[in-house]
Amino acid sequence: MENSVIPLLKRLSLNKYEVSQESHISINTNICKTCVEKPCIRVCPAGTYEAMPDGTVTAHYERCLECGAALVACPFGAISFKWPDKGITYRYG
Ligand code: SF4
Repeated sequence: MENSVIPLLKRLSLNKYEVSQESHISINTNICKTCVEKPCIRVCPAGTYEAMPDGTVTAHYERCLECGAALVACPFGAISFKWPDKGITYRYG
């Protein structure tokens, strides 16, 4: 059994892991200041979004799994992703 699993894991393994130096997440913090519930923080499985003392939200983009949950959860459309020209590369290399 072990022999049959290893090739599968190799196929699924990552060739490289890179985190861009530039955030792919853009947040309109002026909107966030008026948002009380901040559902983006609750729905993100990676803990990407953090409430700041001034009422805004900051994104730890290097944690982002690019699942898009926060994009859907934000009732004001304050979050947008800037997809790179050649596709998704930030998390999965
Ligand atoms: S849900 Fe939207 S408006 Fe509210 S804090 Fe998060 S990004 Fe800002």
